[in-house]
Amino acid sequence: MRLDGIHHISAITGDAPGNVDFYTRVLGLRMIAKTVNQDDPSVYHLFYGDEHARPGADLTFFEYPGAVPGRPGAGMVHRIVWRVGCADALAFWASRLTDEGVTVTRGDGDSVRFADPEGLEHELVVSSSNDPALIAEHPDVPAEHALQGFEGVRAYSHRPDGSARMLEQLMGAERIGDEDRFQLRGERRGSWIAFDPAPENRGRQSAGVVHHVAFGTTDEDLPGWIERVAEARVPSSGFVDRHYFHSLYFREPGGVLYELATLEPGFTVDGPVEELGTTLILPPFLEPRREQIAARLTPLPDPRAGWAPAPSGATS
Ligand code: ZN
Repeated sequence: MRLDGIHHISAITGDAPGNVDFYTRVLGLRMIAKTVNQDDPSVYHLFYGDEHARPGADLTFFEYPGAVPGRPGAGMVHRIVWRVGCADALAFWASRLTDEGVTVTRGDGDSVRFADPEGLEHELVVSSSNDPALIAEHPDVPAEHALQGFEGVRAYSHRPDGSARMLEQLMGAERIGDEDRFQLRGERRGSWIAFDPAPENRGRQSAGVVHHVAFGTTDEDLPGWIERVAEARVPSSGFVDRHYFHSLYFREPGGVLYELATLEPGFTVDGPVEELGTTLILPPFLEPRREQIAARLTPLPDPRAGWAPAPSGATS
């Protein structure tokens, strides 16, 4: 029973139209689902990912309209690290982001760092793994430069020892390098979570802040994980049906909210892969109120207005 690295990452936006623009037009991700927050259907839950909506590249945002930028603190993920294919891709992104007015920093070693318009930090690094590249098609982003999925996340822990212990002893992670960085690798793929010393200021969950990070499992293994977490006396959500996957939520000792999410059924549960993200998806219990719900939502730009991916599908 091993976890397939990061399945998805969920964050908060106060500006859904700006969020769609940044992640689809600027970063070249595909909108793979547009649905509502099940607890508050007047706001969106937006999903971005690769062309086929595979686990490992899925970044989601809960919309809190008008929310001010938050601040990551102890117990929160503060940076999302993406893979790209080569050093040329780093140069491509440094130039593309700069042209968009985004401040770019070349990080230690070979990386590109920037933040989204609400302050959520990203870093691009050249992939050192053999995992399949999870890329989306975009008219202005050549396939060889596209983002390839998650390499890892960096978080602030207020109990680094406890964070390490849970990852190594409960979740099957392996420490890599000489920092607090832990690799979770399963049969399909892998990625890591690293912990940095927490800032003194308390964090604030709001726009531009990560809400939780999910690691990949399967329908076959999820019951085993639920049992293992219960045996370790870690409080958890128990089984949750998230429509696109099945989940278990629990908080690690350093404060970060973890989710384990299954491969199944995946985003094509709503229809063919070509149509992902094109229509508003509602859970069955909200379907009878579709018209009223749709009328109250923030109007969003169409991320693929005026173009369509090649019918052959250039991605692997
Ligand atoms: Zn989630």
